[in-house]
Amino acid sequence: MDVYVEKPKCTGCSHCFDVCPVAVFEMRPLDGSKGDINADTAPEEWKWKGQEDPAVFAKWNNDVQKCHDHYKQKSVAVNGSACILCQACLIECEGECIVITDDQGQKYHSIYK
Ligand code: SF4
Ligand code: SF4
Repeated sequence: MDVYVEKPKCTGCSHCFDVCPVAVFEMRPLDGSKGDINADTAPEEWKWKGQEDPAVFAKWNNDVQKCHDHYKQKSVAVNGSACILCQACLIECEGECIVITDDQGQKYHSIYK
């Protein structure tokens, strides 16, 4: 199993971190103080380069979200091989930015519900 996060779309909401039963995700501050934000298998186009996705930012950057850790941190899939494909993160992801590939090559993309 492989898991990565499309970093420019990640709002930092922590939902994936909160729901994952096998600790696939770590939340890492943008200043790099808790490790490399690009330490998962996200392809080059989806690595963090300091630029938020404008559409996701516009959708979620409201007063409620500003009270939490939105846009101060990113989720990093540090332990993707442990994923049991429970799909909990796939329906909780505000940025719709989690991509899971199973051992047969089937891809799953998060859709917020
Ligand atoms: S689908 Fe995988 S990464 Fe997502 S919550 Fe379940 S075990 Fe964790
Ligand atoms: S649920 Fe999605 S948007 Fe929220 S922190 Fe995890 S990867 Fe980022």
